Amino acid sequence: MTGLSILRTAESLSQQVNRWRAEGLRIALVPTMGALHEGHLSLVQLAKNHANRIIASIFVNPKQFGPQEDLGRYPRQEAQDAEMLRSVGCEVLFAPTVEEMYPEGFSTSVSVTGLSSGLCGAHRPGHFDGVATVVTKLLNAARAHVAVFGEKDYQQLQIIRRLAQDLNIGTEILAGPIVRDADGLALSSRNSYLSAQERQIALALPKALQTAKEALEAGQEVMRVLEEQRQALSSAGFTMIDYLELRDSVTLEPIKQLARPARLLAAGFVGSTRLIDNVAVLPS
Ligand code: AMP
Repeated sequence: MTGLSILRTAESLSQQVNRWRAEGLRIALVPTMGALHEGHLSLVQLAKNHANRIIASIFVNPKQFGPQEDLGRYPRQEAQDAEMLRSVGCEVLFAPTVEEMYPEGFSTSVSVTGLSSGLCGAHRPGHFDGVATVVTKLLNAARAHVAVFGEKDYQQLQIIRRLAQDLNIGTEILAGPIVRDADGLALSSRNSYLSAQERQIALALPKALQTAKEALEAGQEVMRVLEEQRQALSSAGFTMIDYLELRDSVTLEPIKQLARPARLLAAGFVGSTRLIDNVAVLPS
């Protein structure tokens, strides 16, 4: 098969997947919201190491946006995205409409308790239920052998691992590392909202994470390090810091002392743009 097919319905996706499965091919799914960048493409590359056929999906999921959030202005550039996916050897782009995903009468919500409550969950009510619901639908529609998600959305990744296991989805969940620009800023579709000046401020986020990581791994006291770096973000011009916290790398439970593999996670606003980032922190 050459070229990229764009499929709009779960039914047509299912037919394609059935044909591939009958041929004994291994299938990977890479879900996205589009406005693709090298971070997304790195997930496609990872998927190619584990499968013979790659499905990428693009769906800007209204259920995961709050009423005051950026659903309306979220960047949409399907033709350009399709070209990028074709150039990296993706076979199918699944790009359904909102009506296809949520027809009249749609009433089901998937909720992963515990993991969804803190961090971004505490600041974006309903966000992770929206994510869990759409990802469950995408995983069920694609019936892929593997699905690839980025560590950029670290809490989301842990939630998806949990739901795939709890709901017997039968798809292996793989994680790709965060892809960053040369200046350290994690690639994100939302970076396009930043002015040149805001982008300079945004660099304080990876810097704060890296500084805190080094201090923590050198044995400095957790609460003090976190407070210092929250201060650093404020001083740099972050208009609001939703959180900067050290958590267990799997359960996401708060950690007061670095004794097991941990993740340092942060979210904050530069102007009206909300940015998130995270880094692994390992005990010596
Ligand atoms: P999004 O389009 O923002 O919903 O992201 C789609 C997938 O790409 C998610 O699994 C993200 O975690 C992942 N992703 C987004 N940005 C990056 C990045 N800079 N590096 C690696 N993965 C990313």
